Amino acid sequence: MQLADKVALITGAASGIGLEAALLFAREGARVVAVDISEKGQKTVAAIQQAGGQAHFVQADVSRAEDAERMVAEAERVFGRLDILFNNAGISHAADDDAIHTSEAVWDLTFAVNVKGVFLGCKYGIPALRRAGGGSIINTASFVAFLGAATPQLAYTASKGAVLSMTRELAVIHARENIRVNALCPGPLQTELLMKYLDTPEKRQRRLVHIPMGRFGQAGEIAQAALFLASPASSFMTGAALLVDGGITAAYVTPE
Ligand code: NAD
Repeated sequence: MQLADKVALITGAASGIGLEAALLFAREGARVVAVDISEKGQKTVAAIQQAGGQAHFVQADVSRAEDAERMVAEAERVFGRLDILFNNAGISHAADDDAIHTSEAVWDLTFAVNVKGVFLGCKYGIPALRRAGGGSIINTASFVAFLGAATPQLAYTASKGAVLSMTRELAVIHARENIRVNALCPGPLQTELLMKYLDTPEKRQRRLVHIPMGRFGQAGEIAQAALFLASPASSFMTGAALLVDGGITAAYVTPE
């Protein structure tokens, strides 16, 4: 078991990557604090408990300071410590577009969840990791932090760039404290977040032509990479961006 005796807090644990990571981390021995704005996070906890694991649900909005403080406090109250902080919750707004057409409200909401949410997780989580003698922080960025697209989602793309640069600086600041901070950069996945936009075979095909592997990733494949970053297997890794993207960022031309 790669995470025996560890306590892991995972945000966005009701769905997609967060859900799969919560189930996987629990199977690897972690006690899991499943955080989500949706009460469906309770189902994640029930699934873990049914399989014999330990988990606790905290309904919280990661963009609100009092919620972020409470989720960390709950981890320490219920399980006594915090070792792994997976800042994974994120949104992609339907009205996110180019500079001309993206509203300030959409920009602000995207940055509140995707960037401030990570900041607040660290603001309250890092003192808890210090109390535990160190730990691992994983921030979910995206392949879009590396590549631009003509089908724009400017606020989302900029927010993930911010997650990447924030991750590097956090890693350097806390490197001597046994706290590692890495960014996980998934490629396009078959999760709710993306599939609600790619809702026709034509739209899906338009994205698939750019992925050398010719398919979307699965949330479970990203959870495996998160497990690597959470576990001692990545003990000399900090400030890194781990791309798990089916080759999309390596490609200039993809196979027919
Ligand atoms: P998802 O929509 O399946 O899950 C996201 C979860 O976050 C949901 O359960 C949602 O309720 C929760 N959430 C949203 N706002 C929240 C808030 N303010 N506070 C707490 N929880 C909140 O999406 P996913 O694909 O699993 O995405 C997880 C992360 O991966 C996100 O940061 C996303 O940007 C990133 N990502 C996704 C893809 C993709 O193609 N799906 C690609 C690259 C990166």
